Amino acid sequence: MTSASPHAALLQQLRSQATVRDQAPASTLAETSGAPVGNSAPLSKEAYDFGELPDYRPIKLQRAALASLDLDHPFFRLGEGDSAAATQIEGEPQISFASYDYLGLNRHPEVRSAAKAAIDHWGVSTSASRLVGGERPYHRSLERALADMQGTEAALAMVSGHATNLATIGALLGPKDLIILDQFSHNSVVEGARISGATRLIAPHNDYGWIDDTLRQVREQHRHVLIAVEGLYSMDGDTPDLAELVALKTRHRAWLMVDEAHALGCLGATGRGLAEAAGIDPTVVEIWMGTLSKTLASCGGYICGSAALIDYLRARAPGFVYSVGLAAPLAATAETALRIMQRDPEPVARLAANGRLFLDRARAAGLDTGLSEGHAITPVMIGDSLRAVRASEALFAKGINALPIIHPGVPERSARLRFFLTADHTPEMINAAVQATAEVLADL
Ligand code: PLP
Repeated sequence: MTSASPHAALLQQLRSQATVRDQAPASTLAETSGAPVGNSAPLSKEAYDFGELPDYRPIKLQRAALASLDLDHPFFRLGEGDSAAATQIEGEPQISFASYDYLGLNRHPEVRSAAKAAIDHWGVSTSASRLVGGERPYHRSLERALADMQGTEAALAMVSGHATNLATIGALLGPKDLIILDQFSHNSVVEGARISGATRLIAPHNDYGWIDDTLRQVREQHRHVLIAVEGLYSMDGDTPDLAELVALKTRHRAWLMVDEAHALGCLGATGRGLAEAAGIDPTVVEIWMGTLSKTLASCGGYICGSAALIDYLRARAPGFVYSVGLAAPLAATAETALRIMQRDPEPVARLAANGRLFLDRARAAGLDTGLSEGHAITPVMIGDSLRAVRASEALFAKGINALPIIHPGVPERSARLRFFLTADHTPEMINAAVQATAEVLADL
């Protein structure tokens, strides 16, 4: 174990996550390759050498800080098993709370058979953009199933959930428009807003009064206004008030977009998400977004909405138009998983019970569960990034796999361990995880 002083700077770096670019003295930035281009000043190595990228330095410093404290890097651990609750990671048996296979459908025999049958029939790749030669029946039947599940006129599936947010927001909004993002919005929404060129405002989390006041002041200065929220917040495990949001967006003639990445399968009696849980007609929300990668055990993203919205996106969303059509095994997996979820609500109920049990036990053990409402995601708040990494490592040594979430994934000083609950966790697994977490935090 090393003394504090040689590592103080590294640890400070890890804690603050400040970029070296912000701190580097001018002389560092001016370091040259010695190869002047034309008449201009010599280029610094940062301009062309990946190893010298200013944003790469804090990553390397962070790793050095962890190594100096004999801590493993907790990310990119090699799992040898599938997404099951009981699995093996780096040679060790683990109870895992790190996968969002919420209903355990990644292991369902029907889902696996559907993927294999789709490969046998259609091959592994669609091999073309749908617009130009790649349209197949499996795309249409998945989209019909998604629209029916969501209760909207139509749906559109794309090859990535992240790209779906980028492509959709980027295609709908431009410089004359405004997007109001909840403070806890996922990176894909933040990036979509950025590339759209629209004015961006960050709303304090779930603060509808703030949104209302803001729109009273600025609505008239903009053409389109989009309010973007999540159905179930991926880092905090809480939900928005859909009725409040619908009233707000109606009052201000704004569009409402709900990212259901973590809500599908987890909210509502039959897993249909926030609209089902809130008892609200889904057609009053303009844009429902979701991913195929979580409850649906596949890969890709989708938008559900009006026929006009989907027709427009089919022609204008770059991540759809200029990208390959979803592969047959992925489409078949997602559609089969969706049908199983709708046919049998029992795993949805089991997941809901597990989420509640974890929250109740964690609170009883004195853990800070932040904003969690006891659905499928509960954070255990830690604050300091290094402490969160240490806690994750200590839990891993006890056979519990729960990943630390640190800045920039969450705001500064709000590092946490995030627990994804699934239908396949048993009460014994949940009890073991809560007890181990309480012990680890008491010892840190
Ligand atoms: N939206 C939210 C809220 C997410 O949490 C994620 C991914 O975790 C995405 C979108 C992107 O989905 P995908 O991982 O399927 O690309």
